[in-house]
Amino acid sequence: MKVVKFGGSSMADAGQYRKVRDILLADPERMVVIVSAAGKRSKDDHKITDLLYLCHSHVKYGVDCSRIFKMISSRYLDIQRDLDLDIDLMPELTDLKRRIDAKSITREELVSRGEYFSAKLMAAYLGFQFIDAADWVIFNMDGTVNQTDSYRALRERITPGHGAVIPGFYGSMPDGTIHTFSRGGSDITGSLAAAALDADVYENWTDVSGILMADPRLVDDPQAIPEVTYDELRELSYSGAQVLHEDSIFPVREKNIPVNIRNTNDPTAPGTMIQEDFDGNNDPDRFITGITGKKDFSIISLSKRGMSNQVGVLYKVLKVLVRHNISVDYVPNGIDNVSVVLPTSAIEKNLYTIMAEIKQEVEPDTLDVHHHIAVVAAVGRRMAFRPGISGKIFAALGESGINIRMINQGPDELNIIFGVDNKDFEAAIRVLYNSFVK
Ligand code: ASP
Repeated sequence: MKVVKFGGSSMADAGQYRKVRDILLADPERMVVIVSAAGKRSKDDHKITDLLYLCHSHVKYGVDCSRIFKMISSRYLDIQRDLDLDIDLMPELTDLKRRIDAKSITREELVSRGEYFSAKLMAAYLGFQFIDAADWVIFNMDGTVNQTDSYRALRERITPGHGAVIPGFYGSMPDGTIHTFSRGGSDITGSLAAAALDADVYENWTDVSGILMADPRLVDDPQAIPEVTYDELRELSYSGAQVLHEDSIFPVREKNIPVNIRNTNDPTAPGTMIQEDFDGNNDPDRFITGITGKKDFSIISLSKRGMSNQVGVLYKVLKVLVRHNISVDYVPNGIDNVSVVLPTSAIEKNLYTIMAEIKQEVEPDTLDVHHHIAVVAAVGRRMAFRPGISGKIFAALGESGINIRMINQGPDELNIIFGVDNKDFEAAIRVLYNSFVK
């Protein structure tokens, strides 16, 4: 069977609910459905989850939230009416408003209601069983999920051969109170359900036809990635691309369950398949799986004559950064120099203190910092152990007059990462895409 998760845009209004039903009817193996709260219907619409957070802040500062609450409740009541559903949400909505006004509901429980009402409506629409996430997603005191107990609880609640709808994003603490994942956390609920039920595939339905090979704001109409490994995805999301909640990979990966990213608005598109590995299919010219990157890094670099013979120079630099609780992204080095690449935002506030401390610890001959650096990552499992790939990439960049400030390649050869000036960021991504993907 398949576990299918529908994101906020797939739950935005009655029209989207109809698409969801058609998708489920097209494949009877799609039995367990996880839903997000209703998302935006158009660009300038509001996500229900955002409105719920807003509602909570209003009440916290003693401001009435009736107008916002009306926007929330009418969204769900509209869907109920448009689909002519035989379910009455009014008593629960009224009770919720009463608890908000009485300040007798926690922030987390309040924001979880977006998913709760989505799932109630979807279960009624499909004629599926409603299984509350609070009854099976069980958190430990430290906020991690107790997978053993959660999986058992879900298996006990599922009726074999019968469809179920589950709200995403939340679960229960050991004391029974509602706890939510971080934003976008319905992806994790779906992954947990797929792992608990040993699903054949975890389908994650969204509003794009898969993970795109490059940011569509930088590249015109980029292609979707047909197949990506978990490791490649990790590289792509670390360096900037965002599709799935990061933590959603772990439960399915443990059970070797593939994830298929699909588009509710284009259901016949195959989307992106994510799994541990793929056999064959090695088009030698297609060595890049995806291109991504981020702006606004800084490079702190220092040189010291004879450094290569001294023990602990890098250690001393890192010690200073650890003291300031700063993690380093890359450490390019030469014989008598070393540099650390990190997000500018991490050092901005304490830059002068950090530089002074490094100076004191290392006593370097030179010590500089360069800002406005962008990091670009070309990711691809087919780049590994193939000579000539970085040559091609850097030749293409050189021909376009893009100066490379830093180069880094992981030992698994899954990526080639390089730094350019912020101003060259967009051009670098476009050059890679146009030279090696198109
Ligand atoms: N509704 C929640 C959010 O907007 C969780 C989710 O959609 O995955 O973050």
